[in-house]
Amino acid sequence: MDKCSFCGRERKNTNLLIAGITGHICDSCIEQAHSILDEEFKKKGSFNVGDINLLKPLEIKKFLDQYVIGQNEAKKFLAVAVYNHYKRLTQKNSNDEVEIEKSNIILVGETGTGKTLLARTIAKMLHIPFTIVDATVLTEAGYVGEDIESILTRLLQAADYNVEAAEKGIVFIDEIDKIARKGDNPSITRDVSGEGVQQGLLKLLEGAIVNVPPQGGRKHPDQKMIPVDTKNILFVCGGAFDGIERKIGQRLNTKMVGYMASKSNEKIDNANLLQYIAPQDLKSFGLIPEIIGRLPVLTYLQPLNKEILRRILTEPKNSIIKQYEKLFEMDKIKLVIEDEVLEFVVDKALEFKLGARGLRSICETIMIDSMFNAPTGDKKELIITLAYAKEKLEHTNMARLKAS
Ligand code: ADP
Repeated sequence: MDKCSFCGRERKNTNLLIAGITGHICDSCIEQAHSILDEEFKKKGSFNVGDINLLKPLEIKKFLDQYVIGQNEAKKFLAVAVYNHYKRLTQKNSNDEVEIEKSNIILVGETGTGKTLLARTIAKMLHIPFTIVDATVLTEAGYVGEDIESILTRLLQAADYNVEAAEKGIVFIDEIDKIARKGDNPSITRDVSGEGVQQGLLKLLEGAIVNVPPQGGRKHPDQKMIPVDTKNILFVCGGAFDGIERKIGQRLNTKMVGYMASKSNEKIDNANLLQYIAPQDLKSFGLIPEIIGRLPVLTYLQPLNKEILRRILTEPKNSIIKQYEKLFEMDKIKLVIEDEVLEFVVDKALEFKLGARGLRSICETIMIDSMFNAPTGDKKELIITLAYAKEKLEHTNMARLKAS
């Protein structure tokens, strides 16, 4: 009697049994084998830097402009850093005397000004694995919280476990300021969430081969580790560095007395001190010099003003308003939001200090009833007027919007 040589099923229990020279294989074993092949190829799948669609800095900036409004200084720095980083990867001759060093980036700016959005957009442009980790959850190995290696676990997951791709990915480490050393007294007690984490991070930033638990964490103690080389991973760090302006101010004022005071045209713009940020300010804030040295590209993001917030509503390629228009269009309804409504939304976001994140929650509050009712009605056009928007927002507790 013919049987599958793999699972032993008899012909009558299969849909198809294919004969080979010395054995048989059934349809379900073929399917299973096929999925094993898929998995294996995916793991080994080659990943070429040449596959990355590398644009010139000006083109990178133009790409970013489609999604991120303003922040020209940060865009310029990012564009150059990313461009150089990938030039470095394509450097053919590894014996070349001029070895281009990695250009990890640190972005300083209030929360909600677009730091994550910038990093995410760069990754989208390059079609490479990208992950965001929050520095606040990281702790030294052995403490409650996540080990530093978990950063790479996430990157591996984002890369579908294609190690080669992960090794050329981008990691965005958010809230890097939260692992700053507290106070100026570094070593009396162990600083679980501060300096120790910085030391751990250093290894990744510098470039090292790290054994990464593929599923992360300590829940799977016997999982097989995957070695990941971080040499070519681009790290972008972001943080609000609350109060760093004071340190910048102090530094500038001390300097003014000496050298700069003699140059009368060097006026300091006290309203926006962040633009003068320098590595030593990060040090005063509590980052260790080694970390700062590994983040050579330092740039800042401006707080969002009224004009920028207004543009964020409508200009980005996938702006909030464009998304609403699309949603209604799918129900064959033309959505018209009057300009005054947009001004009103921006004013409310500013008034309640909700920033760009608040724009969405305010719009959502205004639009919810229309989104609920319009699809069942027979109107082909929906006009949102200022009076309507005001009425919808009137009964909302703005504190609730802040949470989202
Ligand atoms: P951060 O990382 O600085 O805290 P995010 O990048 O997460 O801030 O920004 C939060 C949201 O606000 C983004 O998802 C985006 O919708 C919006 N946003 C913030 N800044 C900008 C900007 N400059 N241009 C367009 N949208 C922005």
